[in-house]
This record gives sequence, structure tokens and C-alpha cells, in this order.
Amino acid sequence: MKTRLTCPCGEVIKGQDEDDLVEKANAHLTAEHEGRTYDREMILFMAT
Ligand SMILES: [Zn+2]
Repeated sequence: MKTRLTCPCGEVIKGQDEDDLVEKANAHLTAEHEGRTYDREMILFMAT
């Protein structure tokens, strides 16, 4: 299961599971990268 994503800005986002990771990644994007969104597939594609 993929639970870690390194954002292009260098921030490491960790989730408890894929759903949590997607949620946290979107929260990070909203907070730090206004106007940029990734869908679930894109997030999981970049996650490890
Ligand atoms: Zn970022």
C-alpha cells in the first residue's frame, strides 16, 4: 500500500492508508499550492 508522497515542493506527506494520503495531499495542495489539485490516481501514481 502506498502511504508516502513527496510533494514537488519537498514536503513529505504521510498517510495511514491510501485514502488518508489522498486526503492529506489535497489538504497540503489547498494550503500551500493554491489552485493546484491532483486527483486520486495522480496522487497514488506519485506516491510510494
Ligand atoms: Zn507541496
